[in-house]
Amino acid sequence: MFNEPKIDDKIIDSHLHIEAWKNDEVGSFIDAFEPYREGMNLNGLNLCSLNNHASGVANNIMMALYKLAHKETFAHGCLHHVEYPITANVPAGMELVTQYKEMMEIGFDGIKLIEGKPTCLKPLGGTLLFPTLDEFFCEAEKDGTHIVFHVNDPDEFWDYDLAPDWAKDTGWFYGNGTYPHFKTVVKEVETILDKYPKLNVTFAHFFFYAKYPDKLEAMFKKYENMAVDITPGTEMYFAFEDNHDFYVDFFKKYSDRILVGTDATFPWESYTHAWCIDRLYHFIATDKVQKAFNDRNLTGLNLSGKDKENILYANFERRVGSDKPKEINKEKLLAYFEKYKCLFKEGELEELEPFIDKYLR
Ligand SMILES: [Zn+2]
Repeated sequence: MFNEPKIDDKIIDSHLHIEAWKNDEVGSFIDAFEPYREGMNLNGLNLCSLNNHASGVANNIMMALYKLAHKETFAHGCLHHVEYPITANVPAGMELVTQYKEMMEIGFDGIKLIEGKPTCLKPLGGTLLFPTLDEFFCEAEKDGTHIVFHVNDPDEFWDYDLAPDWAKDTGWFYGNGTYPHFKTVVKEVETILDKYPKLNVTFAHFFFYAKYPDKLEAMFKKYENMAVDITPGTEMYFAFEDNHDFYVDFFKKYSDRILVGTDATFPWESYTHAWCIDRLYHFIATDKVQKAFNDRNLTGLNLSGKDKENILYANFERRVGSDKPKEINKEKLLAYFEKYKCLFKEGELEELEPFIDKYLR
């Protein structure tokens, strides 16, 4: 299936997605990452729900079902937006903060926000500073709930001359004046963090700050519970390689603020996830020089002891508050299904019904 050897160190992949119901390799989404988990000897997976492929509510239910089927699985649920652009006119009982509380009762381990990615932010109305999201941040800070937050994309995607062709082809060129600028969005995030400075938040993809570690460091100093993950974002690895010695020290100094994740996405096949976690593991834990992203060299940071353990799994466990995933409350999950199935996209009800019958009824 794949050639990468099992990883002997304890490791949790903190950032995976499910964007399809089935593939040829494993069959149903309910086993999406099992060959990957077993083949690489991973100690835990954290599924991150998204509201931009399946409906957010259906994707949340998929993740909760996965937790029931495979006990070593953590999951971060997403907030579902009933209307785009976002307004205050959310149907009663479906406010973002209500959805958040429901997910915590169901047994999610945290919340995933994709709202800061330009392609999501633009249809939402172009700003993260809206009151219903503010209510959520307020509660999440009080509860200490872990948030995995995707904000921005690499800043070259705003510059036509610097944006790579693949990004332009994917619709990820943001310099045409219709998207909020990278720096504007950073300012909004700082506004949120200034208001909720203890927010337990991990920004995905190194906050796209690998070229600006001084700015990242300033944020780490200001916001005590803020972290980043090293989910590729291939461009960050070029910056790590270009400044290898600097980043050895940086990763040691901030080993309590950095998490490992692959962005493994079902229905991609397992070998792609295995390839990625193997590269990330060797980058953190060995001094191996490997061919990694875009076939460029990547030299391992060779971290050991606490530094290595923090990044490979301990930071994640501390942030979700446990080394064990939360149990799913089946009654609450069934109630969530019944309440939100009116918001499913076409076909989602038919896909989910057999699993609801099998696991919840
Ligand atoms: Zn992701």
